[in-house]
Amino acid sequence: MLLKILSKSDLPDAVERLGQRYRIIAPMLHEGQTVFKELLPGDAPDMEYRTTPLPPKKALLPPREELIQLQSTNGESRLEPVLDVQPAVLLGVHTCDLHAIGLLDKVFTEGVPDQHYINRRRLTKIISLECLEPCSEHSFCKSMGTLAVPESFDLHLTDLGSDYAVEIGSKAGLNLLWKFFTIRDAGDDDYARLNKAMSEKWSRFNYRLDIDATELPGLMSLNYADELWEELGQQCLSCGACNLVCPTCFCFDVQDEIDVDLRSGVRTRVWDSCQLARFALVAGGHNFRIRRGDRLRHRFMRKGKYIQEMYDRPGCVGCGRCAQACPVDIKPLDVFNRLAAGHVNQSEMKKEAIV
Ligand code: SF4
Ligand code: SF4
Repeated sequence: MLLKILSKSDLPDAVERLGQRYRIIAPMLHEGQTVFKELLPGDAPDMEYRTTPLPPKKALLPPREELIQLQSTNGESRLEPVLDVQPAVLLGVHTCDLHAIGLLDKVFTEGVPDQHYINRRRLTKIISLECLEPCSEHSFCKSMGTLAVPESFDLHLTDLGSDYAVEIGSKAGLNLLWKFFTIRDAGDDDYARLNKAMSEKWSRFNYRLDIDATELPGLMSLNYADELWEELGQQCLSCGACNLVCPTCFCFDVQDEIDVDLRSGVRTRVWDSCQLARFALVAGGHNFRIRRGDRLRHRFMRKGKYIQEMYDRPGCVGCGRCAQACPVDIKPLDVFNRLAAGHVNQSEMKKEAIV
């Protein structure tokens, strides 16, 4: 591992220099909570934050974004794609959110490539931050295998007290480091401090899922018809908050808005939620998931099975945001563990996972 050391006291200067070249999106204290936000000159990132209500996903897949502009003149219509051209740095991304971004990278590049996402992602450098403490009572990242950093960062920081250990993940990260940061080479002491921080970290996190995450797809298959879905459906308010806060949800709606002069317009993409009643409404007025229990089951099937099987990445990274946001306390950890409690036959689950 190529390791450099950045003194914490040098971070503000580095951020200021970066800000002259890049748009910086970072965790920031705002009205009593930490949110990912664009830094303005003089703003300081909150590098000690635990969690944020919305994930940093919003920097790459904005809640609302223009996709196409339409202009019509003299009977001729022109459609212009709208592509973000601003280079950006996404600073302070925790490991679970980095895993989620890794999933989005697959989703938006495989199959039908999404030029809007791909373009924004290409222009965005990621400086991630090692999680040394659980971020909330709801997180279960260790169980989901997302507590260790994946390789999709440009630079990765680990808090060593007065310094950060900086790991270089890409050539772009190396360039950032040389151009904008004041660093020194790591010595034996620094490697020892990093090893200590990392070994102490793991014991602070518990395995909270009662089965191995690799058994989740099989567990979900076995429980497709379980009565739990109907029970939870009775409680669910179909508010969609769980989807909106989730770093791995990527469903969206596309809307066309035409100006009153009928000569110009815009096509936008907005986040959507599979928990809303109209989500599965199709032509002819048919709704194929009209029941709340069915919609809830669909969400958990995606989190525990469908996404994993389709993209070979966890559909839930265990961040706990949906548990925090749900007004009726429907929590993924509880749901998975309740299902697991009813199915102790592990070999049966493994068999289902293969089918
Ligand atoms: S389902 Fe909940 S816990 Fe899992 S990644 Fe989404 S918001 Fe986080
Ligand atoms: S946040 Fe809770 S109540 Fe709202 S849709 Fe999700 S599970 Fe249902």
